[in-house]
Amino acid sequence: MTRILVVEDEPGIAFALDADLRSEGYAVTIATTGDEALRLAGSATYELILLDVMLPGKDGFEVCRKLRRSEVRTPIILLTAKSHEAEKVMGLEMGADDYVTKPFSPRELRARIKAVLRRSTDEPGEVVRFGDIDVSVARCEVHRGGQVVDLSALEFKLLTAFVRSRGRVLTREQLLDEAWGRGVVLNDRVVDNHIVGLRRKLEADPTKPRHFLNIRGLGYRFDV
Ligand code: CA
Repeated sequence: MTRILVVEDEPGIAFALDADLRSEGYAVTIATTGDEALRLAGSATYELILLDVMLPGKDGFEVCRKLRRSEVRTPIILLTAKSHEAEKVMGLEMGADDYVTKPFSPRELRARIKAVLRRSTDEPGEVVRFGDIDVSVARCEVHRGGQVVDLSALEFKLLTAFVRSRGRVLTREQLLDEAWGRGVVLNDRVVDNHIVGLRRKLEADPTKPRHFLNIRGLGYRFDV
């Protein structure tokens, strides 16, 4: 059974989430504070954590950061009350996998949960296909219509970061960390220029990208 830790201090929302997720067949544990969430996530195994940002005491960002620092890799979906772009970017940089803005529909949340769970159970050796492109991250190979595509090392690292996080927004800073290395200081434009290169090699029509999408104010998302 898939276990989900729900961290939510508002009893009404926690109750509704609990009922809805149980009806979908998930095993649900509720935590109402950040400290309780940290204790539970550190001592039991969950397949997913739904984490409210606005919590008394330690907020969701702090909980997220602490979990990642202590090597807890459980996928996290943040529940954000505001639609502020800055808050979403911050959540992603703290190591969250996705976010859902309150108020959300149960259907939307279920879809996000399924997408995040699917990504986290992918086989590392698999081949990812989009358009006429096949990518094997394990073998460092990219083919287009059966022909090898010549990517630079940086382009391949960027592509790997996208493939591993498909369907999820990555900030320019996260892409810089993944491809160039943590702590390397470069202009964000460098990322944009390399994505232009990836689109030219991998999109059917680079002027109308369907896979490497710019998400205004946030960064980029790769869709299969
Ligand atoms: Ca709350």
